[in-house]
Amino acid sequence: MTKKILVTGGAGFLGSHLCERLLAAGNDVLCVDNFFTGSKDNIAHLIGNPYFELIRHDVTFPLYVEVDQIYNLACPASPIHYQFDPVQTTKTSVHGAINMLGLAKRVKARIFQASTSEVYGDPEIHPQVEGYWGRVNPIGLRSCYDEGKRCAETLFFDYWRQHQVEIKVARIFNTYGPRMHPNDGRVVSNFIVQALRGEDITIYGSGQQTRSFCYVDDLVEVIIRFMDSPADLTGPVNIGNPGEFTMLELAEKVISLTGSRSKLVFKPLPSDDPKQRQPDISLAKQALDWEPTVSLEDGLKETIAYFSKHI
Ligand code: NAD
Ligand code: UDP
Ligand code: UDP
Repeated sequence: MTKKILVTGGAGFLGSHLCERLLAAGNDVLCVDNFFTGSKDNIAHLIGNPYFELIRHDVTFPLYVEVDQIYNLACPASPIHYQFDPVQTTKTSVHGAINMLGLAKRVKARIFQASTSEVYGDPEIHPQVEGYWGRVNPIGLRSCYDEGKRCAETLFFDYWRQHQVEIKVARIFNTYGPRMHPNDGRVVSNFIVQALRGEDITIYGSGQQTRSFCYVDDLVEVIIRFMDSPADLTGPVNIGNPGEFTMLELAEKVISLTGSRSKLVFKPLPSDDPKQRQPDISLAKQALDWEPTVSLEDGLKETIAYFSKHI
């Protein structure tokens, strides 16, 4: 049966891959985006498909449509972009969640929230499990994103308890792949673009801080599984690839895969930059029968091939 599915932030990096997969599975997809960080290029190949519809709209304003499912991804995700207009970032997370939850409540749609590992802040426990409450600075430069996403989670759980809205909250860890914004300042896109252009590779701090990187195809697979899982599985569920790397290791991999002559340069560490991050994905493995399949090396090769064509 064809489902009508709303994807907010559908013209962004993750959203565009999700729209593609949902269409391929025979759904009717409504993409809503204000193009703050997303781009028409990401979805140009879907325009003309009669089952794909695009609305330019900002989720901080109400939206009246009739749908069966909602994937709420609208929100700038990279520090440069979410700190550009921090008030708008908080509004997008909080007012956006209220509007999409209000819509879900009215039309009785199931709703997925793209939450983030940033709700754990600079964590004291490692790897991070869903039961950990996190260590977030409420008044720092990253707070508009972290606290906005934390408040959105609160709203999701209150709409579930108070209004019985069927919610699916995923805490997404660093994800990379084709269609990342080349200028969004995230580490994978920065290093690849710098390596391909033969520019210096910018390591922030000592480069000993760690991240765990999930390839976009693995991510899209699991969020669709999660959406279609039994109603009592509300989450939060950690989603990511537990392979953990220092930024120095990542830089070395990118240099070797691109054959670049770029040199490493060291720059100041941004404030509140988490030192270590690795998901515990036991819950996703057990409840969704999922684990990532794409290695960092294979994923980087695909991403490098994309940036080679697009920059
Ligand atoms: P992205 O910036 O490529 O996509 C976000 C999309 O939302 C863009 O198309 C943007 O134009 C749109 N948008 C922003 N504000 C909006 C608003 N007010 N109204 C309508 N549209 C709006 O980022 P992404 O990496 O694709 O991230 C998608 C979601 O996943 C975000 O919610 C992000 O917080 C979450 N997430 C991503 C990662 C990651 O590593 N990529 C990790 C954790 C969580
Ligand atoms: N809303 C929306 N689309 C809908 C239904 C609601 O955008 O189809 C918005 C509406 O602006 C409202 C918010 O969602 O402010 C929360 O809705 P809810 O019904 O929970 O609260 P109320 O309307 O009582 O404020
Ligand atoms: N980083 C870096 N060089 C860059 C961009 C980022 O060393 O050119 C570091 C950054 O300080 C952080 C890590 O890479 O420790 C991941 O940064 P990103 O912005 O991609 O994700 P987040 O910090 O939100 O996890």
